Amino acid sequence: MERYYFHSSIQTHVVPLGHNFEALENQFDIIIIGGGIVGAATLYKLQMRHPNKTILLLEKEGALADHQTGNNSGVIHSGLYYKPGSLKAVNCIQGRHEIVAFAKEYGINHDVCGKVVVATDASELGNLDRIHKTGIENKIEGLERITSAQIKEIEPHVEAIDGLHVPCTGIIDFRGATEKMAEVALAKQSNTKVHLNETALDFIKNENGAEVVTNKGRYNGKVLVFCSGLQADRLAKKDGVDLKEKVVGFRGDYYELTDQGKHKVKHLIYPVPNPDFPFLGVHFTRMTDGEIECGPNAVFTFKREGYGKTDFDLKDTMDALTYGGTWKLFMKNMKFGINEYRRAFSKKLFLKTLQRMIPDLTMDDLRPGRAGVRALLLRTDGDTRDDFRIEYTDHSIHVLNAPSPAATASLAIGEQVAKMVEERFEL
Ligand SMILES: Cc1cc2nc3c(=O)[nH]c(=O)nc-3n(C[C@H](O)[C@H](O)[C@H](O)COP(=O)(O)OP(=O)(O)OC[C@H]3O[C@@H](n4cnc5c(N)ncnc54)[C@H](O)[C@@H]3O)c2cc1C
Repeated sequence: MERYYFHSSIQTHVVPLGHNFEALENQFDIIIIGGGIVGAATLYKLQMRHPNKTILLLEKEGALADHQTGNNSGVIHSGLYYKPGSLKAVNCIQGRHEIVAFAKEYGINHDVCGKVVVATDASELGNLDRIHKTGIENKIEGLERITSAQIKEIEPHVEAIDGLHVPCTGIIDFRGATEKMAEVALAKQSNTKVHLNETALDFIKNENGAEVVTNKGRYNGKVLVFCSGLQADRLAKKDGVDLKEKVVGFRGDYYELTDQGKHKVKHLIYPVPNPDFPFLGVHFTRMTDGEIECGPNAVFTFKREGYGKTDFDLKDTMDALTYGGTWKLFMKNMKFGINEYRRAFSKKLFLKTLQRMIPDLTMDDLRPGRAGVRALLLRTDGDTRDDFRIEYTDHSIHVLNAPSPAATASLAIGEQVAKMVEERFEL
């Protein structure tokens, strides 16, 4: 039998196992399903708190962070927008401090470069006031109301009437951070493993915890922790969680600035978001590799892990269309949805949105970029604005809703899950 192991060198190795060794190898204290940043942060936190415990992390792709984590905007969010006291607010702020400290300690590419949120129209001033107030309540360090002249000093090409400066926002290589979290945990305990290319298929409760059946083998864990992003609802149901909600995917397409356009953006430029939606609006982001991205839009997708504009998956589509929450979402947001679809296929419309902040941006300044898909737990009433959500059974913990800013908040979420494991289970 061949099995894939993930070692601290972040490479995939093939290790043949003997039968007796295998029996021992298949017992773990904790099994984590999903190798995005939430799974890796949970692994890291659990291992640091319990150096003697053995943990298995299963990831179905050939690398960590291949879905939401590796395709996001790469922004370390400040915590500006989230309802004071909510899990998003508390974990984002704590997680931001932790991820910056982690990046410094382990040399992860990052830069706390700050961002501006800009109002370009008087109709946005009410929402700008509301965000400013929330930011003050959330004690966002250095948050300042700035005039159009001050905005120009920071971002000379932006035309705006009012704005906020958020100096503690930053950018980071989230994929690099994810890999490093796993690497540090693996170095701490030699019997902890990360298996890539291994899909968890079934979960069978037993007297010691549960057995996980994968496409390659079977493993016993005293506790299972699910951090499976776009598949969270399906795996929760498979594990016996009575979940009414479903995960829906919203694809976000990006454009990149060409060399001729790059000088028009210095750091991060965000519009004032519409509070009716869980998205921050199409923004400009300087990435850690020096590229400047513009996006993402938000298009309902018929393939959860599909990154092309016309990607389609029958199971995902049937799942979405047989769920009442999806139709309620469509009915409530018909106009927004149609506009987003039109913008997804029209560079001209995308440019028009961007020109609201930077009027001198031209078609030649933009080239098509990549895409990411956000997982949002859609409520039965069609609302997607829920807080982070973590639930547990008698043998498992499920991270059911971890949309943005969960990458920023990952170490705080990992800490919270580790505490839940300690409080609810005997390891
Ligand atoms: C376009 C976009 C922009 C965003 N921008 C930001 C941002 O700037 N800042 C920020 O903080 N957040 C941002 N977010 C949100 C952030 O990326 C996510 O909240 C975060 O990455 C969630 O991490 P995760 O580990 O839960 O999910 P994922 O990264 O999706 O990881 C889940 C993993 O589980 C694996 N998996 C699923 N099922 C199985 C199975 N059966 N067996 C084994 N493995 C399985 C998947 O393959 C996947 O690798 C953005 C998201 C998107 C999509």
